[in-house]
This record gives sequence, C-alpha cells and structure tokens, in this order.
Amino acid sequence: MNRNDFPILDQQINGQPLVYFDNAATTQKPEVVIQALADYYRSINSNIHRGVHYLSQKATQEFEIARQTIQHFINAPSHQEVIFTRGTTESINLIASSFGHTFLHENDEVLISEMEHHANIVPWQMICDEKKAKLVVAAFDETGTLDMNDFQQKLSPKTKIVAISHVSNTLGTINPIKQIIELAHAQGTPVMIDGAQAVSHLKVDVQDLDCDFYCFSGHKMYAPMGIGVMYGKAQWLNAMPPYQGGGEMIKNVTFEKTTYNELPFKFEAGTPAVGDVIGLKTAINYINSIGIENIAQCENELLQYATQQLQNIDGVTIIGTAEHKTSIISFIMKDIHHYDAGFIIDKMGVAVRTGHHCTQPIMDKLKITGTIRASFAFYNTREEIDQLVRAIFKTKEMLS
Ligand code: PLP
Repeated sequence: MNRNDFPILDQQINGQPLVYFDNAATTQKPEVVIQALADYYRSINSNIHRGVHYLSQKATQEFEIARQTIQHFINAPSHQEVIFTRGTTESINLIASSFGHTFLHENDEVLISEMEHHANIVPWQMICDEKKAKLVVAAFDETGTLDMNDFQQKLSPKTKIVAISHVSNTLGTINPIKQIIELAHAQGTPVMIDGAQAVSHLKVDVQDLDCDFYCFSGHKMYAPMGIGVMYGKAQWLNAMPPYQGGGEMIKNVTFEKTTYNELPFKFEAGTPAVGDVIGLKTAINYINSIGIENIAQCENELLQYATQQLQNIDGVTIIGTAEHKTSIISFIMKDIHHYDAGFIIDKMGVAVRTGHHCTQPIMDKLKITGTIRASFAFYNTREEIDQLVRAIFKTKEMLS
C-alpha cells in the first residue's frame, strides 16, 4: 500500500531488499514530505513572525497554516492550544517542568504506569525530587494490559496529575485512556497523554478524549525529525509559566520586568523549526489522503499475521499479548541474546530494534534484559514478515 511513496525502501541492505520494521523508533518519509522540506529551503526559507518582507510573511503564513492542520488533525478546539516542540520528550519535559512548578507541592503525587517510556518517567522523577512529591506507578499484568484495579487504587486525592502513554512502545498495548481520563476527572485530576506511538495508528480526538495534554513526535508519523507537538487545554496553559525564555515568547521586556506573549507563543521561545513544521503539515495531509482508518486496518492485518507466524516458532516468546494492540510485536528467543539475534536478522536485510527500548522498568519487571521488536507501518507487507520469519529460523540455526 503506497510503498512507492517512500524512496528509502527501494534499496538493498546486505544484499537483500530492505525490510524496515523499526517504525516505532521512527517511520520513513514519503517523497511529498522530503519535497516539502526541499521546497521550503529552496523558495521561502525565512525567519517568521517579525518580518515585513515577503519571504518572512510567506513562511509565517505556511507555519500558521500548519498549526491549523494539526489542530484539525487532533480536533483541538483552538490553534492556540497547539504548541510546537522538538518532540514528545520536549513536550513532556515542558509539562512536567511548567505544570510541576506551579501545581506540585510536597507530598503530592504524580501517577504514571509501569509501561512508560523513559521520556514519561524521568521528567516526572526530576520534578518530584525537586518538589518532594511522589511518583506513583500503576502496574500492568502478565499480558501487558494495564491493571485498572491497581490504577484506581493508586489514583487518590493526592494525585495532582496522571501521565500515561496511549500506546506502549515495547508491548504495543493500547491503554484505555478515555476511561482513565474519566476516572481522573471525576476527582478533578488532569491527565497528560503520551501519544508518541498512537497518532500514526489511531484516530486521536482530544475533545472526545477530554485529555488535558496530549504529546507526540512528528518523526514517528512520516514527518521530519526534530519537530513535535504539545496540545494543552488553554485553561492549563494560561495558568502555567513559560518553559523557556527568549524571543517570541514575550510581550514586553525591560530590565525590571518581562510580560509574556499570548498562547501559543508563550511556550515557543526562539526560532522554531519552520521547515520541519511544514514537513509535519505535509505528513498529516499525506496520512489524511490515505485515511487513518485504512492505515489502522492494514497495520492490524500485519500484526495478526506476524503474531500467527511468530507464536508458532519453537523457542520464540511474544512479549505483550494484550487484547488491544497496535502493530508492535516484541519477542525473545530461548537461549539467544536479543543483540545477537538482531545482528543476524539485520544481515538478512531486516531492520528490527533490540534492547530495552527506553523502557528499562518493563525489562526489570519481566526479568529480561531486552527484546527484539518488529514494528510495522502500512507500507510493510506479509512477504516482509515471511522474510523476518526466515531470518529468525536462520538465527536459531546459527546460535541455538
Ligand atoms: N514516548 C513513547 C511511548 C515513545 O515511544 C517515544 C519514542 O520512542 C517517546 C516517548 C519519545 O519520543 P521522542 O524521542 O520522539 O521525543
């Protein structure tokens, strides 16, 4: 499906046609996105917002159109609630720092889950340390499903924010975030969703979810690296202090006092990645042209097929078997280190990721050092999964 839109896929690695199964780490970029970046630098590159000259106005216009495209993509009520960042990591750091400095106090709690990416653990740990607050962690069960009883027990009046992933990058689990948001809101607690692994696979509607914050990265959804989004409800963003100081985020500066710009600029200090923002807009238009439902259906079929194939291989154990998953399949191989397996699989032209996937607490809980992870995008095929299966058999033959 639309595989030819991705020029990078048309190459041989180690003498084999490239099979790219590392989409959870970053997706490949379609020609339209590559072209949009090149066009930006060829024809309208300019610094935005403060220029009266033609190029600056044109770049500003394209930048703000991109913001509106993203607003509509996630159904945000206002473009002012769409803040550009460098990615999910920066979005979460922004919220942890800015929300945390304002609303977290001694003995307060931040509730996360055991399946979080380090990007949704460490920023909260840092602010909790500073504020003498406590990081509370809800468990997942043996299938990799969030334990909602544990979650509800740990959600308390002390919980000042819930920060949880929409989809686990290691287990593939889709968390019941709507239910989580309802439970938290019932006691007045805001919820931040780490959507890094969700936006390219699932329809995200921030008004329907009613989440307070939603974070994601462009590079995991066919857009350039170095650009991401932090959506936040205006009521919170207006109550939070700026994250960084500098140009663009100010209204007026004197040596005695600075007043801050309105949303969204209050959170966008310095020159933004204009070309990458335009690349993100192009990627979203590209996704829309295919249809996120069609993407989801295609990826789900790949997941089902891969699951069937892998679960029949002797010595292979799938890690993460929740009922609701996106197209991520993590597995371990009996008596074979994940790194050695990844090395041989790569030699057979298949790019998978090995290791802890920035989720060391998951590995500790499961008492493993890492997994081999294949993550699919809609441009992957069943034949490529067959190639992975052959590579796994080869690995067994060589290393068992
Ligand atoms: N959260 C999850 C669930 C992720 O999978 C990732 C990246 O893999 C991140 C956060 C961090 O994203 P980025 O490195 O793009 O900031």
